[in-house]
Amino acid sequence: MARYTGAVCRLCRREGTKLFLKGNRCYSEKCSIDRRPYAPGEHGQGRKKVSEYGIQLREKQKARRIYGINEKQFRRYFVEAARQKGVTGENLLRLLERRLDNVIYRLGFVDSRSQARQMVLHGHIRVNGRKVDIPSFLVSADDEIEIKEKSKKIQVFQEAKESPKASVPQWLEVDMDTLTGRVMSMPSSEDLDLPIESHLIVELYSR
Ligand code: SF4
Repeated sequence: MARYTGAVCRLCRREGTKLFLKGNRCYSEKCSIDRRPYAPGEHGQGRKKVSEYGIQLREKQKARRIYGINEKQFRRYFVEAARQKGVTGENLLRLLERRLDNVIYRLGFVDSRSQARQMVLHGHIRVNGRKVDIPSFLVSADDEIEIKEKSKKIQVFQEAKESPKASVPQWLEVDMDTLTGRVMSMPSSEDLDLPIESHLIVELYSR
């Protein structure tokens, strides 16, 4: 399935919640969902009744869109999560959190996951001293993540240094002066803080 290239604010309006896909704009009064809090399209303000399947589907789409993943890839994560020990829904979110593009975003090096994905694809990121240009690369405990030396002067990273994120998740550690990060542990249940009801996704795929 091709990557979605349309207006991303439509995705938030479709899901009826902020997915924070556009960096700083999401926190400003320009946010589309604040201005037009209804689904896009001709029938956006129409019928509201949603079936159980519809609720499950929307939850899966929300998770998929937050992390910028296509359907095929998302299902692969689900299969892997179901294979692992523990709660499948939590395993799924943990796998998604461990993606390198998500980690770059969580460390505060960029404003959005899509920007993080671009930075990874363009070869600006090193993991344990080696270039990694695969956004879906899964980080592990003790991994060292850094911006490539030559890339540190790129405007987006300089801006990140000047106004660092208020906080990063407990499972990560960041040093904004050197633009480096470290994976302290795997994300715990408390770290899976996105408003995603993962049990609905499990129910959907278990039909
Ligand atoms: Fe979603 Fe951000 Fe667009 Fe608001 S500005 S609708 S949160 S992508």
